[in-house]
Amino acid sequence: MRAVAVFPSSREVKLIDVEEPRIVRPTEVKLRMLEVGICGTDKEICSFQYGTPPDGSDYLILGHESLGEVVEIGPAVRNIAVGDLVVSMVRRPCPHPECHACRAGRQDFCMTGDFTERGIKGLHGFLAEYVVDDAQYLHVVPRALRNAGVLTEPLTIAEKAFVQASHIERRMPWLAGVTPQSSERGELTAAILGAGAIGLLGAMALRAMDIETYVYNRTPPPNAKSRLVELISAHYISPTDSSSSFTDLISHVHFIYEAVGVSQLAFQAIMALSPNSILVFTGVPGLGAYQELDTDTLMRNMVLKNQVILGTVNADASAYVSAIQHIGTFAERWPTALDTVISGRYPPDAYRVLLLGQTSGIKNVISFEPA
Ligand code: BGC
Repeated sequence: MRAVAVFPSSREVKLIDVEEPRIVRPTEVKLRMLEVGICGTDKEICSFQYGTPPDGSDYLILGHESLGEVVEIGPAVRNIAVGDLVVSMVRRPCPHPECHACRAGRQDFCMTGDFTERGIKGLHGFLAEYVVDDAQYLHVVPRALRNAGVLTEPLTIAEKAFVQASHIERRMPWLAGVTPQSSERGELTAAILGAGAIGLLGAMALRAMDIETYVYNRTPPPNAKSRLVELISAHYISPTDSSSSFTDLISHVHFIYEAVGVSQLAFQAIMALSPNSILVFTGVPGLGAYQELDTDTLMRNMVLKNQVILGTVNADASAYVSAIQHIGTFAERWPTALDTVISGRYPPDAYRVLLLGQTSGIKNVISFEPA
């Protein structure tokens, strides 16, 4: 079967021909891959800054944002049937008994760093015609969401971030009474930094919760992203916007979701945060030049204004469940916006331009089905 793999030692990215995987354990499921999304992490792996092949292999099959169709199930598999559409989770637990997070099924909080991630760290990914996975890591996607199911994994990043933020918000019990309909709704405003897939899907999820949402992106409107933002009744702000500066925007919202991976912008946001606000970082910046920071102002602000800055990575099973539900809501409320998140579908042999070239659009997807 065909698969797209990275060879770190020879610094190559190739379409390879490998043996089809087979079910070897009773709880395993075999999938025919339908679509695999490409993201910044894949590009980093292909520029050899990140990513590790499985032990004993000189290559890593890429791909962690997936949608597959079940073609075979092991005898012990329940709740998943041949023909189901499924999304696979990315991260798998470390083996250490002392890692309470992994032992609790929360490998997204692994304490040892010895977790594995399909298509990223120590396990082959989903950019292949067939994949075998354990049923415990699979989430069924309704057939009606065939065209958007591949967006589940990127949306899980936002879902986990929102749950984490809601835990923190419980420190302010008076907010429990504030609903998007109540007069204090000003307490429920959010800004998203970055209009990539993770940012825009996060914006859609916030809008689905009726939270007033601003999306900050450097490209001036109108463009495909600003049009999507309009369709979901959020506000698109770019640096050229005369009505609102970045600092103004940040100082007027209570929840900021960073999804761009540019540390200078993220730290500029910290400086402007309003009292009691939460800033969540999800972007992984490339390592660059040393930057100076006004640490006194930063620390004073954080203490005197009860601010929280939180990093979050990966996601747990419940985030997959809510992501699939939210995609269903998006499909009902904003079908056009949802369609435009996937900006291009390409055959597997387009991997070179998608992984190594300068691509535009929101989410580009490799599709194993003929167009
Ligand atoms: C993936 C996560 C993963 C992270 C770190 C992201 O691109 O979406 O699932 O945990 O990279 O490897």
